[in-house]
Amino acid sequence: MNEERRGTGGWESVLDNEIEIQAGKEWHNRLWDSAVHQFNEAANTLDLGESIKARIIEPRRSLTVNFPVRMDNNEIQRFVGYRVQHSLTVGPTKGGIRYAPGVSMGECAALALWMTLKCSLLGIPFGGAKGGVRCDPNRLSESEKERLTRRFAAELLPIIGPEQDIPAPDMGTGEKEMAHFMDTYSQSVGHTVPDIVTGKPIVLGGNEVRTDSTGLGVVYTVEFLMKQLETDVKDITVAIQGSGKVGLVAAKELALRGATIKALSDVTASIHNPNGLNIKAISEYLDGPNKFLRDYKEKGTEVSSRESLFEVQSDLFIPAALQGQITKEIAKSIDCSFIVEAANGPIVLGADSILSERGIIVVPDILANAGGVLVSYFEWAETQQRYPWSSEQVKIRLRDRLEKSFNEMTERSKAESISWRNGAQVVAIERLVKAAELRGVYP
Ligand code: NAD
Repeated sequence: MNEERRGTGGWESVLDNEIEIQAGKEWHNRLWDSAVHQFNEAANTLDLGESIKARIIEPRRSLTVNFPVRMDNNEIQRFVGYRVQHSLTVGPTKGGIRYAPGVSMGECAALALWMTLKCSLLGIPFGGAKGGVRCDPNRLSESEKERLTRRFAAELLPIIGPEQDIPAPDMGTGEKEMAHFMDTYSQSVGHTVPDIVTGKPIVLGGNEVRTDSTGLGVVYTVEFLMKQLETDVKDITVAIQGSGKVGLVAAKELALRGATIKALSDVTASIHNPNGLNIKAISEYLDGPNKFLRDYKEKGTEVSSRESLFEVQSDLFIPAALQGQITKEIAKSIDCSFIVEAANGPIVLGADSILSERGIIVVPDILANAGGVLVSYFEWAETQQRYPWSSEQVKIRLRDRLEKSFNEMTERSKAESISWRNGAQVVAIERLVKAAELRGVYP
């Protein structure tokens, strides 16, 4: 036990039994470790001191809530939820709310750190945040989900606000949850506050492009990549993991541009057609009562296990489901030339270097999926001004901002001889360090 930490008086006996708590362990888990590893690799290029590194990397606020929800059968079930506000340096915090069985504080902290880097890279005046409730949204009825959302919103009231922290949809949540979240917040303050969330329904001030924005941003980055490689999008074959808000939109937009989508998966199965899937028919099917791909039937389309997606040969692989999907083993065998990270943290620690040795180009998540937070920022600005922009304006601004950041990332990576992931993080970290140093330390 460190003598300096013992203090004086009668505390010694308690402190002698104290478990040594190391800074940073509060958020410890595999995803957090992976985020910290990536950050440190990039920060090494900048030769930052330990103190400023810790100031940038560690979350500023983390809240755990544990709350009851009345289920449809009248039983009371308890749920645990989290909200991590990672950086308060340049503006309010911004980040999605996830409903998934694996949600944890460490996961939220890692995702919030990546949000901070994403905002910094894109030049958005927000810090990162992330939250979620540990649950299986597929097992909740619509009314249970509504009660859970309203109660979670109420639990977060002390730390959120349109100038403090603005939630958005993520895995397992969508515009319906955002409407319930916004209504709960508005009821609590006594007037309508549409800018408390983004990704809300259009009639409540939502942006027409927001739902598609992440998938659209992914496809724009594919176009920038193909331009660099002097290839046409219409000539590539694609495999996509995840057919939710991001994966399915990416599939639709790539199919519209003439790409061949060979395979698509969800939590239940993957479907494969070497001549190209009929994305329009699949999209209509998923919009209907059949929510899962395992029951999809079409001549020429084979349904197999979700893991078999990794065996499909394609030019481009888009992970658009969960983190940690491309393990070291998969990195050794995946048969593609490019990976565009639509999901956050889809490549595990150690797999990046294997992909790089195999010459597989990776467009990192903090750029590839930043379309979501960019259009969320536009939606927030529009709602604050009560002045909506046209969809065309939003798409042009989305594309321009992403292209500028894509070029910054590639130029910086080339100048420093580092990977695109490190290049993107270096640009983002440099801005964060500058902002923190200029603000100084209070008091
Ligand atoms: P979603 O809930 O709409 O869809 C998730 C998809 O992944 C579903 O098709 C689901 O069946 C599938 N899936 C879940 N577990 C799987 C597994 N083990 N194997 C294969 N597929 C599985 O979520 P989303 O909004 O599309 O988010 C997908 C990813 O994109 C997440 O990593 C999220 O953090 C990231 N992301 C989303 C946004 C956004 O605006 N929605 C923004 C940035 C990043």
